[in-house]
Amino acid sequence: MDPQDAWLATLGQLQLQMNKGTYETWLHGTEVLAFHENRFTIGVRNAYAKDWLEQRLRPTIERALTDILDQPVEVGFTLWAPAALNEANDDPSQPSDPPARTNGTHGPSRSNGHAGDPEPTRAETQLNRRYRFETFVVGSSNRLAHAAALAVSEHPGRAYNPLFLYGGVGLGKTHLLQAIGNACQDQSLSVLYVTSEEFTNDLIHAIRTHTQQELRDKYRTIDVLLVDDVQFIAGKESTQEEFFHTFNALHGNDRQIVMTSDRPPRAMVTLEERLRSRFEWGMLADIQPPDFEMRLAILQAKAKQRSVEVPPEAMNLIAERVQTNIRELEGTLTRLVAYAQLTGQPITVEMVEGALADVAPRHHNLTPEKVVKTVAAHFGIDVERLTGRSRTRSVALPRQIAMFIARQETEASLPQIGQVLGGRDHTTVMHGCDKIATLVEQDELLRRQIVSIKEQLYQGLYG
Ligand code: ADP
Ligand code: MG
Repeated sequence: MDPQDAWLATLGQLQLQMNKGTYETWLHGTEVLAFHENRFTIGVRNAYAKDWLEQRLRPTIERALTDILDQPVEVGFTLWAPAALNEANDDPSQPSDPPARTNGTHGPSRSNGHAGDPEPTRAETQLNRRYRFETFVVGSSNRLAHAAALAVSEHPGRAYNPLFLYGGVGLGKTHLLQAIGNACQDQSLSVLYVTSEEFTNDLIHAIRTHTQQELRDKYRTIDVLLVDDVQFIAGKESTQEEFFHTFNALHGNDRQIVMTSDRPPRAMVTLEERLRSRFEWGMLADIQPPDFEMRLAILQAKAKQRSVEVPPEAMNLIAERVQTNIRELEGTLTRLVAYAQLTGQPITVEMVEGALADVAPRHHNLTPEKVVKTVAAHFGIDVERLTGRSRTRSVALPRQIAMFIARQETEASLPQIGQVLGGRDHTTVMHGCDKIATLVEQDELLRRQIVSIKEQLYQGLYG
C-alpha cells in the first residue's frame, strides 16, 4: 500500500475512534510528507497541533498505521504550513491546551478516558499544572464536588476519605482530581495520579516481571492516590483484588484516596461488593452538566486565560448551543481562536456559526412529533393527554417541556410546534418555552430531566 493511502486509511480509522472536534482540530488536513525506512513524516498545520499530536496521539496513530500496513512504523510530525501561518501559531497567546511537560519525556502520560486520548504508556506520571482550583469555574452543577475536592486538598486523609467524584464526559472530573494533586504536591506530599487502566497495566507488568513488591512499594507508600476513571476496573478480577489491598493499606494509614468515575459506585454493576462499599465510605459527589450562565462563565474564563477577544454575542451563541460538555465548549473556542489567527480575522458570530455547524449539527430528522412522544413516555403520560386540554401541572409542565425541547432541537417553527401539541397558538408555545428556559436555570432536577429526555431522543435516532 502506498504511504499516502495508508495515511488516508489511518485517518479514516482515527475519525471513528475520536470525537469530531478532536479529529477536526488536530488531524484534519494533515499529509504524508515523507516515508523512509518505516518512518512517516506527517505535515501538520501549526505548532500547537504538532505538540498535541506528539505528546498525546502518537502511540494511537502509530498503532493504527502499523495495523493497516502490517509492519511496525514510526511517526514524526513536522510543520508544513506557509511561514506566515506558522507565525500566527507560535504566538504566545496560544491556547495552552497541550500540557506543559516538565520532565521532557515524550509520549502520553495521561489518559483521561476521552476517546481521543491515547492509551497509557506512561514513564512517570505528571500532573497537568493547568488543572488547578484557580482555573476551575464553580457553579451549581459542580459546587458540591468542588467543595469536597477543596476540603480534601486542605486536609488530605482527614476530610473525606475516599472522595468519589462522578459525572458525565468532559464535565471536569479529571480537572478536579488533578487540582487536588497539584495542591497536595504544593504541600510537599507525595502524590500518585493514575488512570485505572494504568493501574491495571502496572499490575500486569508486575505480574509478568515478578515485581509485585515494587508495585506495592509504589502504590502503598504515597500520601495521596488519585485514580481517574475507576469504572474501568469493574469486571477485572485481579485488578480489583490488588486495588482492594492497595485501598486498605492506604486508607488504614489515613492516606488520601480520590477516585473519579463516569457513574456512581452503585451503578458499577460488575464491581465487587467489597470495593463498592469502600467507595461509598467517604464522600460521593456528582458533577452535572452546566447551565447556561455557567457555560458562559467558563467560556469567559477560558478566553481570558488565552487573552483573546471574543464578542459577547459570539460567546452567547457558543454557550447556547454547546450544552452538555465542557470539553466541547473549550474545543469550540480553541478551534475558533485557531481559525481567527490563521485567517487573521476577528472572531464574528458568522465564524461561530461555521464552527458550530461542525460540532453540533441540528438534527434534521428530529421532528416535534418525536419530541412529544419521547416527553410523554418520559413522564408516563399518554400523547393524547399531553396534547390535550388538561391544565393540571403534572401535564402542563411536561407539555411546556416538550415545547421547549422541540424549539431547541428541531427545525420546526412555533406554529408548527403548537400544531403538534394539540393545535395551540404560537404565543402559547413561546410562553411555554420562555417559562421552561427560566425554570431550567433555577431547577437542577428539571435540568437533569431535560438532559435525560434529550439522551432518549438521540438514542432513538442513532441507536
Ligand atoms: P472529565 O474528566 O470529566 O471527562 P475534564 O476534567 O477532562 O473532564 O474536563 C474537560 C475540559 O473541560 C478540561 O479542559 C477542563 O479543564 C475543562 N473544564 C471542565 N470543567 C471546568 C470548570 N468547571 N471550569 C473550567 N474548566 C473546566
Ligand atoms: Mg477525565
